[in-house]
Amino acid sequence: MAYDNNNVFARILRGELPCQRLYEDEHTLAFLDIMPQSEGHTLVLPKEPAEFITEMSDASLEATMLTTRKLARAVQTVTGAPGLLLSQFNGAAAGQTVPHVHFHIIPRFPDQRLKS
Ligand code: 5GP
Repeated sequence: MAYDNNNVFARILRGELPCQRLYEDEHTLAFLDIMPQSEGHTLVLPKEPAEFITEMSDASLEATMLTTRKLARAVQTVTGAPGLLLSQFNGAAAGQTVPHVHFHIIPRFPDQRLKS
């Protein structure tokens, strides 16, 4: 599918929209989710334009997974969460609302219900 250059994450990556940036390197960007399902809910994006994980290059996927692990450690340390939920959706039918690949890192606590 053709990549939409004007999706909200493409605009954040270009600096056209603000975000609460947590981490950035040559290949990836991480920031807080604007509608967190729990405190510390973080999104990790590749800078490479791709809608689905199946379209990512090996180098971009490797960098994105390494950043996801780095941020997962940081989020766990800062929030003290005993569990972390990682999720990644491909396509509207799977629940994807922003058509640029991203990984969610969502701190989880015992008996916690996620905000919908
Ligand atoms: P998806 O369902 O596509 O996996 O999730 C997209 C996520 O992006 C949602 O959790 C939503 O709250 C978040 N989001 C959407 N627009 C923005 C935005 O402009 N800024 C930030 N920081 N997060 C956003």
